[in-house]
Parts: sequence; structure tokens; C-alpha cells
Amino acid sequence: MTKVAFIGLGRMGHGMAGRYLDAGFTVAIWNRSKAKAESLIARGARWTASPADAADGADAVITMVADDAASRAVWLGDDGAAATMKPGALAIECSTVSHQHALDLSRELRGRGFVYVDSPVTGLPDAAASGKLTLLVGAEPADLEKARPYLVPLSSIIRHFGPVGSGTVYKLINNLMGAIQIAGLAEGLAIAEQAGLDMKVVLEAVQSGVTASPQVQRHSTRMVARDFAGATFTAALRHKDAAYAVRLAETLLADAPLLGRAAVEAYARAKAQMPDDDEGKMIEIVSRPK
Ligand code: NAP
Repeated sequence: MTKVAFIGLGRMGHGMAGRYLDAGFTVAIWNRSKAKAESLIARGARWTASPADAADGADAVITMVADDAASRAVWLGDDGAAATMKPGALAIECSTVSHQHALDLSRELRGRGFVYVDSPVTGLPDAAASGKLTLLVGAEPADLEKARPYLVPLSSIIRHFGPVGSGTVYKLINNLMGAIQIAGLAEGLAIAEQAGLDMKVVLEAVQSGVTASPQVQRHSTRMVARDFAGATFTAALRHKDAAYAVRLAETLLADAPLLGRAAVEAYARAKAQMPDDDEGKMIEIVSRPK
């Protein structure tokens, strides 16, 4: 049976690891805190002592952790996956990391004889658990074909952007545009509330108007109701993605990414006040205290 090691069992990784169990793979798992692994162990996953332990003998290692620091630790730390991976094994980074980190990690892992695929994702935790993510892949075409059997269980769409790092470039663009949109929506709704408009009418107008992206539709309902139960994407993660995106943009654009910087600033405030709460609580940051 094909062996995978899955590292990082947070909101996204937990569901993704489960997809490999459902697809009949032999799955070794590791997470910094073991509690999140229990239901996967009950479904047949093998708990391991470290990323290195999980990666030992694996055909593919897939990671889904918070940020650059976490990614570096699980791949390249003393007990990192790279310490035990077999030559030619696949290294698939699904976490949203900075572009520079994706390039550095790729160089390091390819230098050690592994096949590296950049595969950040879009989709919420329910899409992760049901195998309906969109994967934003950066890889040599031949490497993508080697990785495909490990990408299919996770996804309904696999978009190949080009060489390693290009999937991360697009992911950061996507999430920067998302940060700007959500912060803009929060501000618009807060102005409407403060002006005393009927928010039922405003909500209908927002959701059927020209700016009604799927993201605006979802967040507007939650923002107006102040219902942020079940955080799917936290303020801290949104801030991280926007900050990585702005760092990339600064190397590419003649002028500063003005809106991007404003979004980073807005999410820095959200992160300081409520890092683990849903990103949609941005409306509470921009509203006047009641
Ligand atoms: P999460 O629930 O906060 O999980 C984060 C994971 O990273 C946990 O497994 C955590 O371990 C691990 N981690 C954090 N710091 C670590 C470190 N220093 N060393 C080792 N492990 C560490 O986040 P998530 O929502 O699943 O997001 C995971 C990744 O997917 C992020 O890069 C995020 O930007 C991206 N993403 C998220 C969504 C979404 O809707 N949530 C959508 C697309 C992409 P512990 O469990 O021990 O804390």
C-alpha cells in the first residue's frame, strides 16, 4: 500500500489526513499537540513521535502547518521530515508560506534528493474534509505527475501555475485580495450601521449587488448577525498571508501595494485583539464601540 506521512492536524490538516485514510493509503501522522490526532488514530492512522518518525519510509510527505516557522521546523528541524525521507520521495508543502520560504525550502529539499511540490490550497475546513479543495500547484510538469496520485484525494481542482513557488505566488495574491475585500466589506457595513440604515435591506443589496463575491456573501451575513461561531480562518492567519503577500508585492511593483498595506494594518489590529477568532470579526475592529 502507498504510504503517506501527514504533518499538521489543525482545522485543515485534520480533514486532509482523513482523506488519505478514506482513499486506502497507509497514513502516518504527527502534530505538535497529540489531542487533535485522536479521531484519526481511531480511524487507522499511525501516530508517530516526530515528523522524522512519520516520514521514515513514506512515499510522500504532506505538510499543513501555520506559517514559515512551523514549516521550517517540521521539514528541516532536528526531528524534521527531511532527516529520514527516502531518496526520491515526494515533499508536498500545502501550508500557506511566504514565497521566499517556498523557494528556500524547495532548494534545500531538492538538494537532498527529494521531489518538491508547492501546493497551497483554497477552500475552507469542510472542503478539506470532503476532498473538495482547489490546489494551487507550482512544480515541474513531471513532478506534478508524480505527485498527482497524492493530490487527487484532497481536491476537486488542481491548478498548475508553473514552476515551484508559482502556486504560492498565486495563493498570496488570492489571500491579499481576500483580506482587502473582507476589510472593505467590514468598513462598508460598519458605515451603514452607523448611518442608521436598515441592515436587512443593506444585506439584501450587498448580496445581490455587483460586489457580491462568494466571500462577501458569506461574510456579510455573519458580520451583520455578529455570528462568528466556528472560526474557519483566523485573524492571525489572515494577517500572516496578507503580510507575506505585501512582502512579495514590494519586490514586484513599482509603487507600494497601497491597499495591501492597509489590509495588513487592519489585520495586525485584529490579530492583536483576537488572534484566534474568525477573520470576519474585522467588523468589530472597525465599528464604533456600542
Ligand atoms: P490551524 O487550525 O491553526 O492549525 C495550524 C497547524 O500548524 C496546527 O497543526 C499546529 O499545531 C501547527 N503548528 C503551528 N505552529 C507550529 C510549529 N511551530 N511547529 C509545528 N507545528 C506548528 O490552521 P489551519 O486553518 O489548519 O491552517 C493551516 C494552514 O492552511 C495555514 O498555512 C493556513 O494559512 C492555510 N489555509 C487555511 C485555510 C482555512 O480556511 N483555515 C484555508 C486555506 C489555507 P498545534 O495543533 O499543535 O497548534
